[in-house]
Amino acid sequence: MKKLESSRLSRMGSAIFSEVAEWKREVAARGMDVIDLGIGSPDRPPSPAVMRALEEAVRDPSMYGYPSSEGSLAFRETVARWYKHRFGIGLDPEQEIVTLMGSQDGLAHLAMAITDPGDAALVPDPGYPIYAASLVLAGVEPVLMPLRSENGFLPVLADIPEETARRAKFMLLNYPSNPLSAVATPEFFRAAVDFARKHELLIVHDLAYSEMAFDGFRPPSILEIEGAKEVAVEFHSLSKSFNMAGCRIAFMVGRPDVVRSLRILKSNIDYGVFNAVQRAGIAAMEEDMAPGSVPVAGLYERRRDVLIEGLRRAGWTIPKPKATMFVWARIPAGWTSRQISREMLFSSGVVVIPGDAFGSEGEGYVRIALVQEEARLQEAAERIGAFLAAARQLR
Ligand SMILES: *Cc1c(COP(=O)(O)O)cnc(C)c1O
Repeated sequence: MKKLESSRLSRMGSAIFSEVAEWKREVAARGMDVIDLGIGSPDRPPSPAVMRALEEAVRDPSMYGYPSSEGSLAFRETVARWYKHRFGIGLDPEQEIVTLMGSQDGLAHLAMAITDPGDAALVPDPGYPIYAASLVLAGVEPVLMPLRSENGFLPVLADIPEETARRAKFMLLNYPSNPLSAVATPEFFRAAVDFARKHELLIVHDLAYSEMAFDGFRPPSILEIEGAKEVAVEFHSLSKSFNMAGCRIAFMVGRPDVVRSLRILKSNIDYGVFNAVQRAGIAAMEEDMAPGSVPVAGLYERRRDVLIEGLRRAGWTIPKPKATMFVWARIPAGWTSRQISREMLFSSGVVVIPGDAFGSEGEGYVRIALVQEEARLQEAAERIGAFLAAARQLR
């Protein structure tokens, strides 16, 4: 038989995630109680109103035909109202919104829809893995933008060579960021929009964590910047904002020709999101717009405090992130990301992800996900503290 494995597969994704999964299996097989802070999936269900809407829709016989690839008009109209409510931005549901089977779907397909093989695109390092993988699928050359703590984990636009900026079709940004939990200032967004106008490139902003921010901070949409709609599209997901990760529903908004290109590509690939799930998505946004709604962020804010304070008592001081369900922690000197992740898991049973899984600039960090209850996070911090104390004695 001919080799039935595309060379694309080995160029996509990082082997580190499967390595960590393997360590975890090994540790669990030894009978150790594992606290998994590796995965980035919310551990709570959607609100009762959302589940009720889904339940009712599932019993409606009219829900079972093929949906449309771009999403029902009712869903897109609700997205437009939600964007107005949340960010003060007007969107045309007919031309400026496309519904997605998760933003992973849209991010995976966007490069294929708007580039040709041989084009280049600017992507963050470290970054969410699908960004680089989507370029492999589309045959697009990745140009990595290093994100470093001394720059607030923002790309230094002035460091991007003129020639690269001219060649690049788009620039991927993600604030609040996974894995960095960094946030962007309006000044940075303004500079990015100016940069995009100057070099005639598209900004693709992934805003998956807009509703997961703390201490009163409300992450902005890049479309709030004047003129941004001419140079930007934005991805939003109901996975994190409304605990609907398993439902697979998200959307992209912004520049109409980009919305159109993605719609055309997707209309050849899929038939859209189950109508019942779109109804549940409408219910989630409606509930969010109602007075007195309770955002998901409070839960993660308390968890963040428990973990960060627990680790500080254990001698590991990490600044408190302003958003996301992740803590991006600089590791103590003398370790590599992979070493400390592995040894910590084998001796304390706590799973974290080595930072270099998200790109080489992630070396020197680990990502800790706040996806367990407070008591478990407390326990994780104590076990990590015992591990670090023992390691200090040995060294
Ligand atoms: C979780 C996450 C998403 C959401 O993906 P869905 O496919 O919508 O579930 C998108 N971007 C980032 C950075 C994420 O962490």
